[in-house]
Amino acid sequence: MPTADLTAELQLQTALLLLKQAGRELSADAEPGSTPWLQAVVDALCDLSSRDAMTGLANRRQFELTITREIDRVTRAGEPALVLLADIDHFKRVNDTYGHPAGDQVLKVVAAALQDCVRPMDTVARYGGEEFAIILPNCPTAFGLTVAERIRAKVERRSINVAPGVDVSITISIGGAFAPQWVRSSAALWIERADRQLYLAKFGGRNRACLEHAPVVQVSAEEKSMLFGTSQFQDIE
Ligand code: GH3
Ligand code: MG
Ligand code: MG
Repeated sequence: MPTADLTAELQLQTALLLLKQAGRELSADAEPGSTPWLQAVVDALCDLSSRDAMTGLANRRQFELTITREIDRVTRAGEPALVLLADIDHFKRVNDTYGHPAGDQVLKVVAAALQDCVRPMDTVARYGGEEFAIILPNCPTAFGLTVAERIRAKVERRSINVAPGVDVSITISIGGAFAPQWVRSSAALWIERADRQLYLAKFGGRNRACLEHAPVVQVSAEEKSMLFGTSQFQDIE
């Protein structure tokens, strides 16, 4: 086999091993080595690289990509979008009391609970160790607190089995903020505002949701056209 082909073959074997280890079975329909089969390998690798290995949620990289797209959309279309940051309360105690594998189990159950109570269009991500982030596009501002409260209550109600005969209950604190509509902003500033609310939720006693008061933004048609500088957006209400 020519050296270049051998190298390609070896790299593909590594990719296939990675997919196998992650439990990703490729469809048996496509002929190995064919273009559809290679495309399936690439798709599976892309999906794998966008997920958190432990919880299966979107990982930090995928979150950054999604929130950047979302803030762009909010600027262009003016739809209300909410970002929530959820942090498990006193999580260190779970590790210290029941061990690290028990902590991991709690993370998996919380991840599933969060995913359970949002719409398919929403993105739930593992943001950091015991922190999660949820992007909710097109979420009416009047519902923001209701949604956050529903998520908080759902986690509080879950009893988590961490070892034979050992069940624990945990709580989360949530901070949230709506993206500024019709204003050029950045994902970093949006997250920072939600993080400030998360701090207030922790400071206020934990197991609660705090949302930044959503400002009512009145933007005239003339201002919108100044923002976009083009006539193709003139019909946006
Ligand atoms: P607070 O209510 O203020 O958020 O307190 P906390 O104990 O949840 O927060 P703290 O930042 O003190 O501790 C977070 C802990 O999360 C410490 C770290 O070891 C643990 N952790 C982070 N990632 C993982 C993980 O993947 N698995 C497990 N088991 N623990 C993790
Ligand atoms: Mg934390
Ligand atoms: Mg915590």
